[in-house]
Amino acid sequence: DTAGHASGGYTTAAAAAHFVLVPMMAQGHAIPMTDMARLLASTARRGLVVTPVNAARMTGFAAGVEEAGLPVQLVELPFPAAEFGLPDGCENVDMLPSKDLFSNFLLACGALREPLAARLRQRRPPASCIISDMMHSWAGDIARELGVPWLTDIIYRKNLLKSLTDDEIVKVSGFPTPLELPKARCPGTLCVPGLKQISDKIYEAETRSDGRIMNSFQEMESLYIESFERTIGKKIWTIGPMCLCHRDSNAMAARGNKASMDDAKCLQWLDSKKPGSVIFVSFGSLSSTDPQQLVELGLGLEASKKPFIWVIKAGKKFPEVEEWLADGFEERVKDRGMIIRGWAPQMMILWHQAIGGFMTHCGWNSTLEGISAGVPMITWPHRSEQFVNEKLVVDHLKIGVEVGVKGVTQWGTEQKEVKVTRTAVETAVSMLMDEGEVAQEIRMRAKDFGMKARRALEEGGSSYNNIKLLI
Ligand code: UDP
Repeated sequence: DTAGHASGGYTTAAAAAHFVLVPMMAQGHAIPMTDMARLLASTARRGLVVTPVNAARMTGFAAGVEEAGLPVQLVELPFPAAEFGLPDGCENVDMLPSKDLFSNFLLACGALREPLAARLRQRRPPASCIISDMMHSWAGDIARELGVPWLTDIIYRKNLLKSLTDDEIVKVSGFPTPLELPKARCPGTLCVPGLKQISDKIYEAETRSDGRIMNSFQEMESLYIESFERTIGKKIWTIGPMCLCHRDSNAMAARGNKASMDDAKCLQWLDSKKPGSVIFVSFGSLSSTDPQQLVELGLGLEASKKPFIWVIKAGKKFPEVEEWLADGFEERVKDRGMIIRGWAPQMMILWHQAIGGFMTHCGWNSTLEGISAGVPMITWPHRSEQFVNEKLVVDHLKIGVEVGVKGVTQWGTEQKEVKVTRTAVETAVSMLMDEGEVAQEIRMRAKDFGMKARRALEEGGSSYNNIKLLI
């Protein structure tokens, strides 16, 4: 019932709705779930299921919802790391010592099923709806036991690629416009022991979910959303861009992990730069760019002569990158380059008026954050669906240029080769940041999509209405 819409909320019936959210513990999955919690909690009660290490990473989020008086409860469950051969305290994908332990990690997540079911059985009523990451197909079993709907967020597709060679073109059917990619740029399957069995279960469970929640918005890709809805034969609610639940720079900075640099210093640095002059370079939370490639990227940024913020997560893993940075690079670019080692307050940075371009790995969250901020992009996909997101940004929305990546860099697999040269980096930065006509058109379109994104979540907008309908 959406008739009784009053200030800030909807109806008493809606206010009684109680969603239980079960995020995958990887920052690219957990962060959008916390955003979803904020969005739904302005109108319904929410429980967000987490484990202790992840709860500690959500202190910024917890403080934010408390301050805003939003009815969100963090439900903490102990994580059985040791039982599944994982190091003590290893509760997030970014803490895995090797990707070979990924299946163990998923099995340990699956072991949360009984403790969560027990917690929910104690409640009267237990929940109105369970929303889980697609990887937690076991959450669907709890929903069936409790007789409540189960919605999922992440979409999995079966591997279409088995018999093709790298140069062959894969045609993905079911889209309103042709989607074609060389096999080498297709998502592919992660090669880790024991994953096939788990993925088969996930694919099978997917057919039983009651619908999908998509972190997207109608005005950006309505034809694709409709066509996907027809293909899967299930309701899809687009309620994004969910990152737009944050509107001020403090809330943006508190999103995700604790930033490894002082927010105020970062803002001060940005304030000292001209509007639209800085390029922001960041490759997500699980970045696997190899050391030589990082050096080449740095040399390209230096050659571009533009101000930049570069987020590097090489750290202890690649000491050679640290050595190279210290061996003259940082000194040479000190007047116009800021390097953030570790976690950056990405949203806060993207929203600053000094940012004129975003060099991104095209993770879906980063892509949407760039779009929402109205910032044009340089696309540098690494793996998974990032090459498809690149197509959306460059070919469909026309709000970015590609740096020219030809093949996948698998997560956790060392690839000691340079795929993108410093010249390619320099060229892409110039193309996007210079005053040419093409760059200006890209900038205008990016601004326009940013406005559309914001409108989607304002009162009466498509995503705002979908949140009401979902509740
Ligand atoms: N992120 C951030 N600071 C960082 C790295 C990542 O705030 O230093 C956030 C980013 O804003 C996004 C998420 O982490 O919300 C990464 O998700 P995405 O889907 O872009 O990529 P993934 O990490 O899953 O590859």
